[in-house]
Amino acid sequence: MTTGKVKSVCPYCGVGCGIILEVSDNRVVKITGDKEHPANFGRLCTKGSTAAAAITESG
Ligand code: SF4
Repeated sequence: MTTGKVKSVCPYCGVGCGIILEVSDNRVVKITGDKEHPANFGRLCTKGSTAAAAITESG
């Protein structure tokens, strides 16, 4: 099993919160806020924090 973290941007709205994707075997298993991103400093709304389910199911 390969795992890793990938920095990206939440796909839902124009705020553009920074997210960190935790990836396992090429599937997103968890999303957390990027504490270094100036748009959100680690915080995410409900849509952003639950985006892993939508991204995984569309893969
Ligand atoms: S986490 Fe929420 S506020 Fe931030 S970009 Fe995503 S939908 Fe918008």
